[in-house]
Amino acid sequence: MAIGMQNLILLLVEAIFYFAFMVGLLHLRHRIGIGVFIAALGVMHFLETYLAAVFYVELPFGVISPGSSVLFSGKLVMILLLYVKEDAAIVRAPIYGLLAGNFLTVGLSLILRSHETIGVVPGRIADLAFIDEMGWLMLWGTTLLYLDALAIILLYERLGRVFRTSVLPRFLVASAAVLTFDQIGFYAALHHLNGAPIAVFWGGWLAKMLAALIYSLLTAFYLRFARISAIPVSSRPLGDVFNDLTFRERYEDLLDRSGRDALTGVYDRSRLEFEGPKLLQGSAVAGTAASLMIIDADHFKAVNDLFGHLVGDEVLKRTAGILRDSLRAGDRVYRFGGEEFVILSDGLSHEAALQRAEQIRISVENAITRPDATCVTVSIGVATSTVDGNTLNALLSAADERLYRAKKDGRNRVVGAE
Ligand code: GH3
Ligand code: MG
Ligand code: MG
Repeated sequence: MAIGMQNLILLLVEAIFYFAFMVGLLHLRHRIGIGVFIAALGVMHFLETYLAAVFYVELPFGVISPGSSVLFSGKLVMILLLYVKEDAAIVRAPIYGLLAGNFLTVGLSLILRSHETIGVVPGRIADLAFIDEMGWLMLWGTTLLYLDALAIILLYERLGRVFRTSVLPRFLVASAAVLTFDQIGFYAALHHLNGAPIAVFWGGWLAKMLAALIYSLLTAFYLRFARISAIPVSSRPLGDVFNDLTFRERYEDLLDRSGRDALTGVYDRSRLEFEGPKLLQGSAVAGTAASLMIIDADHFKAVNDLFGHLVGDEVLKRTAGILRDSLRAGDRVYRFGGEEFVILSDGLSHEAALQRAEQIRISVENAITRPDATCVTVSIGVATSTVDGNTLNALLSAADERLYRAKKDGRNRVVGAE
């Protein structure tokens, strides 16, 4: 058999072996932990870099390295598969791990070079000269890999709008495009630094396209075999995915997704208990007033009893909507209990808070009616840090006591400090 053909078959065997092994680890991640897959991916990076530097074989269409075609291309497909099976927040771990590990490798090598080494094993002398050649190239390759990893995921997402749920074209086009970009970028550096001839570009590119095709076929086969048929088309904007991939979601955004009340969409009580004390501490230090109001629907039980729970739920949603619309900067609204809400306002004096509570009371009365056309009303108790104390508990109990008084005095009213 011609050498080129034999090499091609060997490459194919390597690709299938690599794919089957890595996908096996990925598939079993719930049983053995995702770390096994990610660590294996990282270890393979060493072999890949070494092969790409020195290990080249002849194929019918040119000279290529298994380091680039089998391992590098395979790694990108593995990153994409991990994203498909998990999400951006998970896949960014190996992306940044590889980036960090490569920079550490180059940095440490620079220090290691300063050693005077001695030969211990006969005939073997440490040869760190390759670091001189590779340092720059490795940093460039590392940066390219980082861009490739982000690009293949974003492209895959974008292609979902074109190919919908067809896995094969999505993987094939995304990996072929990104590997082409990578080949151009890497060849440019090779040419610039080492004067690599253009034949190196075409040989490597063809091998990567072949890898893209084989890995996409294997992926489609695996997903079908594992009965993972419905690979969804994400409805998230690409910008969100990008922000997740690059750690750009902020802590508050993360928090923002939790601590919401399912029915009304406003924050829940645990959020009030988490952020209320911080806000009050801040206003105490700054010497400004913070106000709190408890808003409780009047005779709400009757709404449920007369018209059913679903109507009651609808009234709660609309009440929450009015409260949300009334917020200014520095205000937060929470669902405190069944039909009780709390608004916490930073920098609001007691008089101003009473006025705002009155506006809210009128808005609810005007906007929300029951099916029998009678108005839904609320009673509101108001407390302020300068009058009632700086802790959340002090404000809640003062407001609650005034709410109780509002109920006793006939409901549909606002009560503040005497
Ligand atoms: P008051 O004017 O004294 O506040 O009377 P009320 O009927 O509003 O007071 P009460 O606290 O006795 O009743 C609150 C009712 O709210 C009881 C409960 O069934 C209802 N409720 C609590 N959570 C929900 C909910 O999520 N959906 C619905 N539909 N009702 C709820
Ligand atoms: Mg109540
Ligand atoms: Mg009530």
